Amino acid sequence: MTIVTITAGHGAGDPGAVNGHITEANIATDMRNMITLYLERRGITVRNDGQGSENQSLRQAIRLIKDSDLAIELHCNAFSNARAGGVEALAQAKDKAICRKLCEAVSDVMGIAVRGNEGGFKSEGSGQHSRLGYVRAGGVILELFFISNPSELATYQAKKWLIARELADVIADHVGVKSCVS
Ligand SMILES: [Zn+2]
Repeated sequence: MTIVTITAGHGAGDPGAVNGHITEANIATDMRNMITLYLERRGITVRNDGQGSENQSLRQAIRLIKDSDLAIELHCNAFSNARAGGVEALAQAKDKAICRKLCEAVSDVMGIAVRGNEGGFKSEGSGQHSRLGYVRAGGVILELFFISNPSELATYQAKKWLIARELADVIADHVGVKSCVS
């Protein structure tokens, strides 16, 4: 059976990066639920770190990775310069190909840059998130966009369902589930 784990970064009292009243943890939870909906429609079994607005701790999220065909944790980047932007994914080298496809999907829908010169892929030793236990356990950390960039945040909010659908397509293809007519 194909199992995909989709988890939301931060949570359990940690909001992650914040822009006004919008938190990274809320965006990650929302996107987790949207991607999950599209994957389940295809008959894929999905593991989540909570239901609805629940966003369990990183430790609980890491426990879900084992025996998954693919595990992705959703995050946003943030930087002091509000113009910093783009999408990237942190993972082990084994997941380079899926990282590139995930980043390409977000970049295409949002019209934002793919960061770095490896198609958005970054090895686990880089990035602003020091706690990369998720990557060490075999998962992918997808930094969707910069929450600190007002333009990217507005684009995200306008297009989030499209982003979720495209990411679900990429994930389903990766785990070998054929597209269905929808
Ligand atoms: Zn984060």
